[in-house]
Amino acid sequence: MSKDSRRFRQPIVVVLGHVDHGKTTLLDKIRGTAIVKKEPGEMTQEVGASFVPSSVIEKLSEPLKNIIPVKLEIPGLLFIDTPGHELFSNLRRRGGSVADIAILVVDIMEGFQKQTNESIEILKEKKVPFLVAANKIDRIPGWKPYDNEPFLVSFSKQSKAVQQRLENAIYNLVLQLAQLNFNAERFDRVKDFTQYIAIVPVSGKTGEGVPELLALLAGLTQRFMRTRIGFVEGPAKGVVLEVKEDQGYGYTIDTIIYDGILKRNDTIVLGGVNDVIVTKVRNLLLPAPLQDMRISKTDYRSVDEVYAASGVKIMATGLDEAVAGSPLYAVDNESRLDEYKKIIKEEISKIRFQKNIT
Ligand code: GDP
Repeated sequence: MSKDSRRFRQPIVVVLGHVDHGKTTLLDKIRGTAIVKKEPGEMTQEVGASFVPSSVIEKLSEPLKNIIPVKLEIPGLLFIDTPGHELFSNLRRRGGSVADIAILVVDIMEGFQKQTNESIEILKEKKVPFLVAANKIDRIPGWKPYDNEPFLVSFSKQSKAVQQRLENAIYNLVLQLAQLNFNAERFDRVKDFTQYIAIVPVSGKTGEGVPELLALLAGLTQRFMRTRIGFVEGPAKGVVLEVKEDQGYGYTIDTIIYDGILKRNDTIVLGGVNDVIVTKVRNLLLPAPLQDMRISKTDYRSVDEVYAASGVKIMATGLDEAVAGSPLYAVDNESRLDEYKKIIKEEISKIRFQKNIT
């Protein structure tokens, strides 16, 4: 996509939910789908995140166009690779989260559990909207799987008894959400997405329902978050996901850039263990192409610049003291350096405070 046609950045998506409810499996399925369906040359791997291009979402949602009309203006969706609470707490941004939207994964047979409720609390506190993925529909007794089909297509081919079992399980989730003061409904019955939480039945194992899940994430962020995801051509804003010592690269930081453009040689400021770190970007690294599976995300190619939203590894001096969860700003005007340092100091003290009380 050319620089000028970039009206929106990729919405950033996180996956939360109770242990063993299928977060990792669902993310792997989404990632795998993107790799198989992408156009030749399109990159899907980033550092700490995976990109699902709009071309993939449009292809998948083709059979759904009468129900979910999606004409995508966003370039795609950026999924944070590590699911669960832990990394989510490193995605902080002033007054909220770097995540634009979340998928709350719930095992449809088990319903809400302790960490499902905890996830909802965190999402409420950070004001992140979410969809519920009612996962493992293939485990409903009698379910006949139709791999990678939209849920609505597969559902229409199930027996009446199986359909009823699924409806009962969804109704249970609706009740559990009602107890937490949320209105919720199966996605295809939701009339007003600002008032109701959409429940999307899926299987991370068979891929059923993944087309609807992606179409809804893309459609809803594009429709209701236009200002938030509007692309700004300014200096980069980001967050430090992880600090790592990489063989051959020394200390590097894995970051999510959620706003603007980051270039090689940019001056960046971020939080350090003892003081604010001011340094220059020496190299920007993305996973090398052809290494499409997650396990081999160890070879990198360097790039001159990255656009929000993206997951990128930054090489620079002085990063051994960097703090995960710290904000990161590119500074294009040295006179504003003190202003940025002050913001970083404030944010870092909040991270320390939170770590002390948990
Ligand atoms: P996480 O702890 O939430 O990341 O859960 P995992 O993705 O590790 O899944 C936990 C277990 O549930 C694993 O044994 C998965 O194979 C299984 N699982 C996950 N999703 C599905 C699904 O959609 N259907 C079935 N039948 N099993 C699933």
